[in-house]
Amino acid sequence: MNMHEYQAKEILRQHGVSVPVGYPARSATEAEFAMLRLPTDTAVVKAQIHAGGRGKAGGVKLVQSLDECRVAAESLLGKALVTPQTDSKGKVVQRLYIEETASIDKEFYLALLLDRATPAVTVVASRQGGMDIEEVAARTPDQIIKVPIDCNIGLKDFYLHRLSITLGLQGTVHESQFQTLLRQLYSVFFKYDLSLLEINPLAISGDRLIVLDSKITTDDNAAYRQSDLRSLRDFAEEDPRELEAAKFGLSYICLEGNIGCLVNGAGLAMATMDIVKHYGGQPSNFLDMGGGASAEQIKQAVRIVLQDQSVQAILINIFGGIVRCDIVANGLITTVKELGCTVPIVVRLEGTNVHAASDMLQQSGLSFILAKDMADGAQKVVEAARNT
Ligand code: ADP
Ligand code: MG
Repeated sequence: MNMHEYQAKEILRQHGVSVPVGYPARSATEAEFAMLRLPTDTAVVKAQIHAGGRGKAGGVKLVQSLDECRVAAESLLGKALVTPQTDSKGKVVQRLYIEETASIDKEFYLALLLDRATPAVTVVASRQGGMDIEEVAARTPDQIIKVPIDCNIGLKDFYLHRLSITLGLQGTVHESQFQTLLRQLYSVFFKYDLSLLEINPLAISGDRLIVLDSKITTDDNAAYRQSDLRSLRDFAEEDPRELEAAKFGLSYICLEGNIGCLVNGAGLAMATMDIVKHYGGQPSNFLDMGGGASAEQIKQAVRIVLQDQSVQAILINIFGGIVRCDIVANGLITTVKELGCTVPIVVRLEGTNVHAASDMLQQSGLSFILAKDMADGAQKVVEAARNT
């Protein structure tokens, strides 16, 4: 689960972290009232969406007066903000965060994340923080350091010293604040089962070290023991089709292509997307029906994939291991008859009772395009989408 900046900052504030004073607002009037409560005469109006890159997209505005605050709020609320991290449609701004303005002397990047490669909770830090961190990572990766923390010993002092030195904070007035901050972030990371806690920028503002932006992602596998965080989930930020698919035990992620993919098993689903791309197609989704793929799941999966207007052909790639291919075929025939599906459907089945399944599909009177293997299926679906 992702959190909004204002929620992440509230959690950090509760754990003693130095964050600017700020209040969320859902209307221009609320934004003005929020600004009145700030200790500064100026404010930063920040769009709250589940995507970064807002600064570059005009989603972070410095305002000098209440009038400017109202104008900025009105220009952002209800509009889609397209940032380098959203798709081309962007994300609609439903909430703002009105924050005290900090004077910035220097910006750092600091994150704690679960690094599967190490594998360890790892501190990632850079002296070159701020809005250009992606370019820094691409052009000068040596400017970004990674320190894996051995969880058996915890965040010992030598890690803190090493990070202070790397960021050039050793011996400065900010050093002890930085080390305290790291300890606070480390404890928040474990307390809430996070997979990412990112601060960008962490700013030097006079003699203060202050968190100006924060992104928190929690580990969904631990959601069952984090009931306090449940209320922070913002369903409006999530794709309604993905939410609906989840109700039927389907892992569905909407993409921008035109080939719908229905697959059982996450590995096979990724391989299917790769092979579709290999033959020049663009998947419109990732869809993992789980190992089983019941008739009901097939029906719901086809229905959800077809809701996407850009889908021009569907590839069904199912391995009949846990589920029998003839049961899948039966489910498919019923579904297509019931939904009156008009886009071409390429079917590749493999596994138990595959021959019986092929016979059923061929004799169904419906125009399934049968594929003998994955490569054949991918080529056929790319061809079918082209001709639609
Ligand atoms: P994003 O990462 O989505 O672009 P940020 O919250 O990091 O959004 O804001 C972008 C930039 O705006 C920051 O790098 C910082 O320079 C500036 N900024 C953000 N919040 C404040 C603030 N409270 N006071 C002063 N400048 C800010
Ligand atoms: Mg940022």
